Amino acid sequence: MSTNVSEIYGTMVFNEHVMAERLPSVTYKALMRTIERGEPLDIEVANVVAHSMKEWAIEQGATHYTHWFQPLTGLTSEKHDGFIDPISDGRALMRFSGKELIQGEPDASSFPNGGLRATFEARGYTAWDPTSYAFIKDEVLCIPTAFCSYTGEALDEKTPLLRSMAVIEEQVNRVLALFGEPSRRIDVTIGCEQEYFLISEEQYKQRLDLMLTNRTLFGYAPCKGQELDDHYFGAIRPTVNEFMKELDDELWKLGIPAKTKHNEVAPAQHELAPIFENANRAIDHNLLTMEKMRLLASHHGLVCLQHEKPFEGINGSGKHDNWSLSADGRNLLEPGDDPMENLRFLVFLTCVIEAVDEYQDLLRASVASAGNDHRLGADEAPPAIVSIFLGSELSAIVEALVNDHESDYSSAHKVAMDLGVSVLPAFLKDNTDRNRTSPFAFTGNKFEFRMPGSSQNLSEANTILNTAVSKSLKDFADAMDGLTGEAFEEAAVAHIKQLLRDHQRIIFDGNGYAEEWTVEAARRGLSNARTTADAMPALVSEKTIALFEEFGILTETEVRSRYEVKLEKYNKLINIEARTCKRMVRQQYLPAIADYAAEVADNIWKVKQVAPEADLSPQQTILEKLTASIKAIDDLLRELDETHHATRAIADQQECANRNASEVIPLMERLRAEIDALEIVVSADHWPVPSYNEILFYA
Ligand code: ADP
Ligand code: MG
Repeated sequence: MSTNVSEIYGTMVFNEHVMAERLPSVTYKALMRTIERGEPLDIEVANVVAHSMKEWAIEQGATHYTHWFQPLTGLTSEKHDGFIDPISDGRALMRFSGKELIQGEPDASSFPNGGLRATFEARGYTAWDPTSYAFIKDEVLCIPTAFCSYTGEALDEKTPLLRSMAVIEEQVNRVLALFGEPSRRIDVTIGCEQEYFLISEEQYKQRLDLMLTNRTLFGYAPCKGQELDDHYFGAIRPTVNEFMKELDDELWKLGIPAKTKHNEVAPAQHELAPIFENANRAIDHNLLTMEKMRLLASHHGLVCLQHEKPFEGINGSGKHDNWSLSADGRNLLEPGDDPMENLRFLVFLTCVIEAVDEYQDLLRASVASAGNDHRLGADEAPPAIVSIFLGSELSAIVEALVNDHESDYSSAHKVAMDLGVSVLPAFLKDNTDRNRTSPFAFTGNKFEFRMPGSSQNLSEANTILNTAVSKSLKDFADAMDGLTGEAFEEAAVAHIKQLLRDHQRIIFDGNGYAEEWTVEAARRGLSNARTTADAMPALVSEKTIALFEEFGILTETEVRSRYEVKLEKYNKLINIEARTCKRMVRQQYLPAIADYAAEVADNIWKVKQVAPEADLSPQQTILEKLTASIKAIDDLLRELDETHHATRAIADQQECANRNASEVIPLMERLRAEIDALEIVVSADHWPVPSYNEILFYA
């Protein structure tokens, strides 16, 4: 049955429409002032909102409520409390107070806090974030909240994001004021394209590696990969289509603007892209989308894999972070129609370029994870080197500005550009130049940050991006202080020229997969942190801490705690992978290979009895290969075991991560290579787990 989309859209959301309809006008206005301008909300107003929210939620079938928050696990958390409140005559009322709406008190000690627990009280509290709408999920009213320690340290992903959004709003408005524009409501806008795999639940259950690590630790390449380009945008299999339909319906009810769905490059890989929204809502919505994907897949006998690299040799999954700034709904990265608008566009563009160059290490660290390490630099995702793609038109403009030749600049379309007189060529707006290899690409009226991994919460990357850009905008506004009219224009042009000269090294329109780029990037002084272990120190560098403290995003203590949490998570994941790897080799692969070797030996012996003259050398060769491999595998297993235990014992998290990256992971890879080589020797009947052929090409 087809869905009437406009009828179901947002029905599970306590959105502005519902608020306007249900709240008394004074309450509605007070709440809107809080949502739009961040004005504090008094408890009287909160009580009225809570009552109305509860009545609405009960009408939609809700029985419980929860503060919905984003601890540093990378997941979302919820604890359901009933509205139920028994009264003395044996009945129960349904209650929900303003206080319960505004604040909750989950136990903070059970969530990762990177040492904050040692210094501060274990208690934490959640605080209502009225800028993201409350919604109903599985009969529970979910209230988006920030999560902090009792002494005010952020323990979540949302708090620093919200802080960074307030900071960038202030700095954007300072810059707009220089252009004579009044203060506006500034939004960071984000559209997150989510990639994922769908595989059959049957096969998933037969693979310990998929169940415990979300990726295959073993597996020989399938006979058919993605070389025919037949999956990308191909017809969607019926099972998957049914899943996608149910997913869309569920997302639309939650007011999530799911827009595009298609098959991705790799077999069994898909993508969902929503329409962009304010960053805070977009990220909440992305997290909900990911949760719904995992949950609904089971209705169709499928499992949704959100790992960055579930299958070796097959494209992994990313999450493109499309980023822009808007002032009262007008996109500030949209090239304009008159000279002043162009100058403003160039100022914002240049500030982003400066920010990305200055904080390239930090941006790299923001996307660092055990999973993403397999993806960045694997010739399918951008490399681990951060660079910016501008496209030929914009690059030519930058080149002209850098060389003081802007009045000579003429594009292929012969449009002269003079910042004082003429306009930027209008076709810039249709910049469809696509360079899939670039980590940070200008795509016409927004930037697309392509390094984030599919399983990531995008808050950290966007917090860093917002803060770094705020810093550039602030420096610009400070430098222009007091200037107006022509003096301002001249100074602004001179300023951006200088910035472009200083930061041109980050601009690269070529092929990011090419080996030459690695060499060229090193020559330019760009950093190339290949692993999470290499990338993490940037998170606690003096420069990073100074940036976060200058804008009140995170204190040094908070930054250090996050660094610890991320490293711990990396080390724990590698520990789980190593254990799973050893378990599978010992209990599944080695016994299967040994069995098969015995069978081959048995057959050789039998054939010899009946046909003593037969040439048995092929079987002998197989048997020799099998026995030699068993020995090699056993040796590697011992080596991995020792290295794994020694690494696990290292107390310092950075040192432990370094050892994991440089020793444990390479050993796991060598072990894998031995096992994979046997996958095409041992008979399919003996192989203990489903192969890539079977997993990726299910019906
Ligand atoms: P792609 O070729 O990468 O699929 P699309 O044009 O489909 O690019 O856009 C990808 C995403 O970018 C979508 O989620 C879209 O809503 C988002 N997007 C478009 N404009 C903006 C903007 N101004 N700010 C943030 N995201 C945007
Ligand atoms: Mg994209």
